Amino acid sequence: MSNPAPVVVANIKSNQTWEESQDWINTVGNRAKDFKGTIIYCPSYPFLSGAKQLIDAKAFSIKLGAQDISKFNGGAYTGAVAASQIKDLVEYAIIGHSERRKHFGETNENVFKKVELALENNITPILCISDISQLGEYLKKGELLKENWDKIIFVFEPPSAISGGGEFKPDDPEDANKNAGEITSKIGKNVTTIYGGSINDSNVKSFFSQNNIHGGLVGQASVKPDSFLKLIENATI
Ligand code: PEP
Repeated sequence: MSNPAPVVVANIKSNQTWEESQDWINTVGNRAKDFKGTIIYCPSYPFLSGAKQLIDAKAFSIKLGAQDISKFNGGAYTGAVAASQIKDLVEYAIIGHSERRKHFGETNENVFKKVELALENNITPILCISDISQLGEYLKKGELLKENWDKIIFVFEPPSAISGGGEFKPDDPEDANKNAGEITSKIGKNVTTIYGGSINDSNVKSFFSQNNIHGGLVGQASVKPDSFLKLIENATI
């Protein structure tokens, strides 16, 4: 049976213009009114403020998230966006995505710091974990994740499963479930754990019906509102 109230994160990456972003919010906001889960929309930074105004004005049940935050909490850091600057706009931030590691030199130290800053600013980290050994590295750094287990969404997202906008190449749902379960047992609490990597409307059910998987981080299939709507429709039937 599917989880009746999954958490579904739309990671829009560097896609969508402001026009397309407004269309996404209006289309999904109007047509997903009966969805029982949580939709977290993560557009690019410049659109966060307008997106919040639109969501609030229409009273849509869409939550907002950033795709990253700075490892600094503000100050002389050209080009960086600090958690302290967006804490009134977003409730969530994706942290430690493997594309940030691959293309922007993100390290475990940066990720750990970002989780700390997000929490300090009342932003829920959507913490991407590529494999269980990476979680082990975070756990060696201190008690932060264990102490804040109920304020973090943990994502099991193997980089090999990310579509990158190309072919869908999802992990095996049972393997993903096993790894999600490992996250839970390493944290030692009943954490929210979602899966990411090539989820689409055809395979969503096979992931969301797993007992340790409480939702998904969706890239490519989230960019177009119709494709995202089909995905969430298939997620719970
Ligand atoms: C992602 O990059 O977080 C992701 C899940 O992408 P995709 O769905 O395109 O594999």
